Amino acid sequence: MSEHTTKPRYGFLIDVSHCIDCRSCMVACSVENNVPMDSTRIWIKETGVTGEYPNLNRFTAPYHCMHCVDPSCVSACTVSALTRNEDGIVSYNSDVCIGCRYCMYACPFEVPNYEWDQQLPLVVKCDMCFARLSEGQQPACAATCPTGAIKWGKYEDMVAEAHQRITDRPDKYVQHVYGETENGGTSTLYISPVPFEDLGFPIAGTTSPAFSNRLVTEGTPMVAGMMLVGLSGAYLTIKHLKEEAEKERLEAEKERAAQPVVEDK
Ligand code: SF4
Ligand code: SF4
Ligand code: SF4
Repeated sequence: MSEHTTKPRYGFLIDVSHCIDCRSCMVACSVENNVPMDSTRIWIKETGVTGEYPNLNRFTAPYHCMHCVDPSCVSACTVSALTRNEDGIVSYNSDVCIGCRYCMYACPFEVPNYEWDQQLPLVVKCDMCFARLSEGQQPACAATCPTGAIKWGKYEDMVAEAHQRITDRPDKYVQHVYGETENGGTSTLYISPVPFEDLGFPIAGTTSPAFSNRLVTEGTPMVAGMMLVGLSGAYLTIKHLKEEAEKERLEAEKERAAQPVVEDK
C-alpha cells in the first residue's frame, strides 16, 4: 500500500451571485473566534446600487484572507508569525507577533486587520477555521451561509467547479475566476456576475511581491553586515587619516622648536 501522506490543499469557492447580504457568515466568524462583530475575520464588499426603481441591483461579496500560494504577508514577517501550511492555509501565531504590521503593508488584498482599540494589539486574519478543520468540520462561514455562496473543499474541486459554473452560464458570470492567478494564485476563488473592480476588489498582479519582500527580510542581516563592514572601513580610514595628520602636526612643531631663535634688533 502506498504511504502517501501529503495533505490535500483546501480552498474556498465564493459565488457572488448567491450572496444575499444576510451577514450570517460574519456572525458565525464572530462566534467561532469569540470576537465582537467589528473584529471578525470576514466582512462584506459591495457594489453601488445600479438600475432604476423598481429594478434595482446591488451585489455583495464576503471577503476574507485569500490564502495565497506565495503569501506576501509571510515573506514580509521578520519573526515568522505568519506561515503557509502544506494544506494551503496561511496561519497566524499571535505568540511570536511583535506588532510591526509589515504584513498589513505587504498584503495586496488589504486583508490583515489590527486591534487598534486593544492595549496590546494583535493582527487579525482568517485562518480558514483551522481548529474546526482538525475536528472534521467545515469553516464556520461556509457551514453557516444559508445560500451556499461560500463553498469550501479541496482546491482542485473548487477551481474545477468555478470554471464549470462559468461555462454552464456564460450569460450570468464574468469570464474570470478571481484568485486563480491574482498574486501568483490563491486558495480563495471567486466567480461573479459583475466585474470584480465594481465590488472594490484590488486589481492584483499575477505575480506575488513576496520575492522582493524576501530580499528585504531575509537580506536584511546581509545588508546590515555589508553596511557594518563599510562603516567599519570608513571609520578605520578616518582614524588613520587623523593619526597621520596628528603625526605631521607634532613633527612640524618639533621642527619649529629646533629652529635657532633670531633676536630682534
Ligand atoms: S452568509 Fe452567505 S449569503 Fe449571507 S452575507 Fe455571508 S456569504 Fe452572503
Ligand atoms: S491575502 Fe494577504 S493576508 Fe492572506 S495570505 Fe495573501 S498576502 Fe497573506
Ligand atoms: S474561515 Fe473561519 S476564520 Fe476565516 S472567515 Fe470563515 S469563519 Fe472566519
